Parts: sequence; C-alpha cells; structure tokens
Amino acid sequence: MKTIIEPFRIKVVEPIRRTTRPQREDILRRADFNVFAVRAEDVLIDLLTDSGTGAMSSEQWAGVMRGDESYAGAKSWYVLERTVRGLTGFDRILPTHQGRASERILFELLGGAGKVVPSNAHFDTTRANVEHSGARAVDLPIPAARHPASRHPFKGDLDVAALLRLIAEVGPERIPVVMVTVTNNSGGGQPVSLENLRAVREVCTRHGLPLFLDACRFAENAYFIKLREPGQADRPVRDIVRDMFDLADGATISAKKDGLVNIGGLLLLRDPLLAQRANNLLILTEGYVTYGGLAGRDLEAMAQGFEEVVDEDYLEYRIRCVGYLGEKLLAAGIKIVEPPGGHAVYIDAAAFCPHIPPERFPGQAVVCGLYRHAGIRACEIGSVMFGQDGRRPAMELVRLAIPRRVYTQSHVDYVVEAAAEVFQDRQRLRPLEIIDAPPSLRHFTARFREL
Ligand SMILES: *Cc1c(COP(=O)(O)O)cnc(C)c1O
Repeated sequence: MKTIIEPFRIKVVEPIRRTTRPQREDILRRADFNVFAVRAEDVLIDLLTDSGTGAMSSEQWAGVMRGDESYAGAKSWYVLERTVRGLTGFDRILPTHQGRASERILFELLGGAGKVVPSNAHFDTTRANVEHSGARAVDLPIPAARHPASRHPFKGDLDVAALLRLIAEVGPERIPVVMVTVTNNSGGGQPVSLENLRAVREVCTRHGLPLFLDACRFAENAYFIKLREPGQADRPVRDIVRDMFDLADGATISAKKDGLVNIGGLLLLRDPLLAQRANNLLILTEGYVTYGGLAGRDLEAMAQGFEEVVDEDYLEYRIRCVGYLGEKLLAAGIKIVEPPGGHAVYIDAAAFCPHIPPERFPGQAVVCGLYRHAGIRACEIGSVMFGQDGRRPAMELVRLAIPRRVYTQSHVDYVVEAAAEVFQDRQRLRPLEIIDAPPSLRHFTARFREL
C-alpha cells in the first residue's frame, strides 16, 4: 500500500471555530500584527508551534490518572527515570518544567562573560540563555544550510572546519561546551547525521570540550538518520537514538516536542560534580529533584510519551505528514527550505514577497497574510526573531509547524490551498515596521504597524 495513514484513531474531538475575514482584520489590528497576541480561539488551524501542542494518547491519559503526587520520591518519577535511562543511557536525569529551564540551569553553571558557546544553530531560547549568562552564542551551520533550495540530506550538520577555526581563534579554555541541536529548529528542522555527530565528538575529545545535545527532536532526527544515512536503514530507531546520546556528555530536552506532552523538560548529565551543582539550582528555582516543577501526572505522561515517540509507525506518519505539506507547497510554486524538515515546513519569505526588503519583515507579512486570508497561524523565523541589534539572519522564513497527532490530511490540504491563494495575491502583502519591542526575544511581544 502506498498511502501512509495516521497510525491512530480519534477518541476525543475539540471543535475549531471559523471567523469571517472582517473579524480577522479587526483581530489582527488589535493584536498589533503580532499573532502571538491573537487568542487561540480566534485561530482555525494553529501552526504557530509544535511545542506542547500535541495530542496525548489514551495510555498517556491513563498515566495522568496514575500520577503519584508525593513531594519526594514519587512512583511516577521512577517510571520516568527508568524510561529515560533506558532510552538515552544517561544516569543523571533532572526533570524541569520545559527546555529553557534546563538551558537556564546549564548556562548559569557553564556560561559567563568571556565564554563562547558554539552550535550548529542555537534556538531562540538557547541563544537568549547563553547571552543572559554573559557568554556569546555562535552558530556554525554547514554552508548548504544557508541555501533554502539545497537538498543536502543532513542540512542540520555542524561545520566542523568552522568549529576548529573558532577553537583556534578564541582558545578551548573559553569554550565551556559545544551544543548540537537535533534537529536544527531555526535552520529548517533539518537533521544532523551520526557521521557529523561523531566528527564533532572527535574534535571535542581532542580539545577537552564537553558536547551537549539540544535534543528536543531526537526521535525525528534518528528517523531521518535511518532514512538517509548509509548503513542505517535496517537499524531500529531506538538504537540510533542511543548512538546519538552515547556521543554526548549531556543534553537539554524540551519534552513538549518529542516527549509528546504538553509540558515538561529534562536536563541529562554525566559529570557527577556538574550534576550536583545543577541539582542545587534545580531545587532553588524549579522544585525538588524528583519532580522539578512538574506534577506527578506530568512525569507519568512524559514517560509514556518517550516510549511512544520511538514507535516507527508513528515516526513514518509524522515525517510523511510534514513532507506531504512541503511537496504540495512546492507544487503550488511556493519556495520552501528543502527538503522539508521533521516538524515543520519553512516557507522562503524572501522569495514569497520580493517586494518587501528584510528590514520591512517579509516573513511577518506572510504570517499576517495567512491569518487574514484563512485563519491560519504561522511563525516568523527571520528578521523579527533574529534581527535584533543590527543582526541579519541568513534567511527570511515562515515556519508552519505541525502539532503531533492533531491535524488530519484535510486540514493540511486546506493549509496548502490557503497558502497558494495568498501566494497568487502576494503583491498585496504589506511591509511592516516595529512600533515597540523588548530588548530580547522580541518576536513574542513586539508590536507592528503595516505600511
Ligand atoms: C522548544 C525548543 C527549546 C526550548 O524549549 P521550551 O520547552 O520551549 O522551553 C530549545 N531548543 C529547541 C531546539 C527547541 O525547539
């Protein structure tokens, strides 16, 4: 059979609400053209993020009922610890309420003024946490990553030659950790190969540097390795996942992605001294070491999510669903980051509206266009998100992130139809300017005006 179906049936439904175009015009104006300020009930199809927006399984909901709410040593904690240990091989596992809490603890310990933290590409919260500590965050993607149309199979790879140059330039003593984001979220949801991870590991070992994964989408990354890396096709995804984690000294994880839960995160460590210090910070700001700011029911749902996410029927459906959206947009003449990523399709907004220069936010114009036309909420990943302090991102992108197990194929077809119509009428998309914005992570709260 050619058709890849959703490997589940639907047991609970949640209505979504249509609005009229004049209503959406009004909503958009009142939100100052920032869709983060739009109420979710005013959105028909919400592709703002795949983070914490997934549907839980019947087994996860059963886990919610089983949740042990004891303050210390809850049964649910030991269920999660056993699952994560089995999957990743890590012994020192800290629960947190989400990925950025893990990042905050890690960079409070490893960051600081004068330090430099390289990565294939830091995600926005990672970069902000590195910089908040006083350190400098440096992105070292391979050259192909900067070209939307390049079909490199592992566009998430870190540029090893550039890493060697950076080490020579600043000195290894100023680099407290090398991060690799799997998959690379800001660069198009692109995977990192095992071969690249091994090469980075080798450089780190040679220079005495710890290697950490930002492992939010470890399962999607492992599935791409199975599909694309020579010699990996017949290996279970679980084994590939283990290979990835075996190469790392630690990991930050937002369980809101491949943990298949609505809230939760992890910090994984090997170094016992670092783990001790991290535990102290965890207790200070998150919660005791066996719950880390989560309820027992959250721990239970997370444990079950980490089991379900490495199911290969699920991963085949997941990757195919995103690939399908990407192929249909390409067929409609819309340029995207190729090949489609694991959790999202990234529209090339610079190509979508060449009449809008980067400083007038072409990505934000496309985001507004999609909402206005069809009630679809997308996310700008370009000069709004990364263009602060005179920086210029390499690409102007609009991310259509696909929540896990939430939308069906007809929802995706609707999105394709809507995007194609906005594209037909692209000359009407309008440039924007920022009225006001906070000093960092401005995309969440910036206010805009249409010109
Ligand atoms: C989502 C995400 C984070 C941050 O996780 P939160 O749970 O949102 O705090 C960090 N890195 C990457 C790559 C992410 O996608």
